[in-house]
Amino acid sequence: MFTNKTFTMLKPDSVEKGNIGAILEKITASGFRIVALKLTQLTNADAEAFYAVHNERPFFGDLVTYMTRGPIVAAILEKENAVEDFRTLIGATNPTEAAEGTIRNMFADSISENAVHGSDSDENAAIEGAFHFSEREMF
Ligand code: GDP
Repeated sequence: MFTNKTFTMLKPDSVEKGNIGAILEKITASGFRIVALKLTQLTNADAEAFYAVHNERPFFGDLVTYMTRGPIVAAILEKENAVEDFRTLIGATNPTEAAEGTIRNMFADSISENAVHGSDSDENAAIEGAFHFSEREMF
C-alpha cells in the first residue's frame, strides 16, 4: 500500500516553458523526496483513462489534447502526509484561486493549463504511480 507517497505529473506546459528544474526544486525544498522520476508522453488512451472521471465534461476533449501534446515529467514523491501536503503545495485547480507561493500560482497559466497534477487520495496515488513505474524504478 502507498502511504506517505503521492504521484505527480509536470504537465506539457511546464515542460514546454522550461520549468522542470524550477518546479522540482520547489517540490524538494518543500520536503518531498523523489522516489521515482521520468520524462514520458501520454498516449490518447492513457490520458482518456487517467481522466475518465471527467469524460462527460465539456472540456474533456481539450484536456486529452493538452495532456498528450508533448512530454510530461512523471514522479512519485514521499513525505509524511504526502497526498494532502502536495495538494496544498500545488494550490487550487484554477491558478487565479491558487494561494500565493503555490506551484499553480507561480507556474500555471489557466484552469486548463495548470502546470501540475497531484493525486487526490492514497489509493489513486498507488494506481497512478504503478501505471508509470515498475518496482525497479522506485527507490
Ligand atoms: P485537479 O485535481 O486539481 O487537477 O482538478 P480536477 O481533477 O478537477 O481536473 C483535472 C484537470 O482537468 C485539471 O487539472 C485541469 O487540467 C482540467 N480542468 C479542470 N477543470 C477544467 C475546466 O473547467 N476547464 C478546462 N478547460 N479544464 C479543466
